[in-house]
Amino acid sequence: MMGCIFCKIVQKQIPAKIVYEDEKVLAFEDSTPQAPVHILIIPKEHIPTVNDINESHKEILSALFAVAKKIAEENNIAQRGYRLVMNTNAEAGQSVFHIHLHILGGRHMAWPPG
Ligand code: AMP
Repeated sequence: MMGCIFCKIVQKQIPAKIVYEDEKVLAFEDSTPQAPVHILIIPKEHIPTVNDINESHKEILSALFAVAKKIAEENNIAQRGYRLVMNTNAEAGQSVFHIHLHILGGRHMAWPPG
């Protein structure tokens, strides 16, 4: 989608440290990491928020979690623990309106989140 920063990363119009890519999913390092491991996993298809998900996205959503599991294993945080976050709209702090699964790990996570 025009003007979407994550679509531009998918199209390689702006750089990112890509750690995983297949035909449906892209994963890259967050540019402002909040933990030793902080990677964003996104569908290549532009879906603005979780509120826009529908039945046709089932396969993509399952792929996001499969990639999260793989990234956790590769970064040695699968057993220690990690957090998956998907912020939706203003009060949750969503700043990029192309859904993305944050995978955060490598340090202790507090609860409740801020
Ligand atoms: P959210 O606030 O949940 O929408 O998360 C957006 C995330 O995207 C933030 O953690 C940002 O640091 C990250 N981000 C924004 N622009 C870029 C970029 N060009 N490359 C990598 N990460 C980005």
